[in-house]
Amino acid sequence: MSHAESPHWAPDTVVVAAGRPPHTADQPVNPPIVLSSTFHSMGKPGGGEKVYGRFTNPTWDPLEETIAALEGCGLPALAYASGMAAVAAALSLLPAGGTIVIPSHAYNGSLSLVAELETTMGLIVRHVDLSDTEASLAAFAGADMAWLESPTNPMLEVADLPVLLAAAREAGVLTVVDNTFSTPLRQRPLQQGADVVVHSATKYMGGHSDVVLGAVLTSSPGLRERLHNRRTLHGAIPGPFEAWLTLRGIRTMALRLDRAEANAIELATRLSTHPAVTRVRYPGLPGDPGHARAAAQMEGFGAILCIEVAGGAAAADAMLGRLRLWTPATSLGGVESLAERRRRHAGEPSTVPENLVRLSVGIENVDDLHADLAAALDDRG
Ligand SMILES: *Cc1c(COP(=O)(O)O)cnc(C)c1O
Repeated sequence: MSHAESPHWAPDTVVVAAGRPPHTADQPVNPPIVLSSTFHSMGKPGGGEKVYGRFTNPTWDPLEETIAALEGCGLPALAYASGMAAVAAALSLLPAGGTIVIPSHAYNGSLSLVAELETTMGLIVRHVDLSDTEASLAAFAGADMAWLESPTNPMLEVADLPVLLAAAREAGVLTVVDNTFSTPLRQRPLQQGADVVVHSATKYMGGHSDVVLGAVLTSSPGLRERLHNRRTLHGAIPGPFEAWLTLRGIRTMALRLDRAEANAIELATRLSTHPAVTRVRYPGLPGDPGHARAAAQMEGFGAILCIEVAGGAAAADAMLGRLRLWTPATSLGGVESLAERRRRHAGEPSTVPENLVRLSVGIENVDDLHADLAAALDDRG
């Protein structure tokens, strides 16, 4: 069952129905996990297409087909060993000594890798505030690649993606969108004109904080072939079990995200009047600077919000230490709610406030989530 056969399916059907074995007698309902590093050649030079486990694995196919169906991509996604392997693959499309435009508040792993390429490979890096459309457009002039994230991590700034993607195309700048935060259920950048989309499937797609995996998508056969060849040669391939587990996670992604987002909206609203919270950042709040854009260009607001805790970094850390239900841990997109003061990481940009705590809202009961946070916040001082 491929999405191409049923283009009328809504995304919440695609997550369940895509990537299944054919509807014929005795087929399993789920795709099997194929644990094999090599494939029969039948002793013939052209004896098969699979050849070797670094080139392909049948367990990847249903996952790659399903992610592509969700993003509205005509070609299968490419699965990678991690989100960062997917990011590195997309960055490898840059020419030697090329110029990249990247938001100052991009995912810190992507920023660190770009900084490393700046030192070692002569990459020219232009940092921009992506919510400032004029500044972003100016930075595109003469660039080779625009790296786009919206909403940004962790500041949750919202870019005018349709305008930026159209302008980049006009200027001949290759666009890559890291769509991890939004997921294809809230935003489909290829449909808005992006050349390449990357995902950390570790987050919402896997959804249970038990797998690390990445994906890259492009509708361009030429770009996909370059990426595919490099994946084979660089070897950053996912294990079959991780691929299977990620597809299993995707089956419930629509339900999980709907619930987590409803929780996030409720928490953002309640926390915005809490005396120990100096600011809530969440595009779903009507007063948020990114609200109008997010409402216009996304199909929902996602389930990540950030709060700034009165009393600075120490008060924020103390609050995290008092949580009982929320888990103080990095990462996001799992069923369980996680909280993290992002500046605890040395690589986090200094423009991210010291007291900013990122909340990855899970699917628990919202009153329990709120009560735990409120208790931890109230106990300050
Ligand atoms: C986590 C994350 C990555 C990196 O993915 P890994 O699976 O941890 O390698 C890239 N981009 C974003 C936005 C992320 O949240």
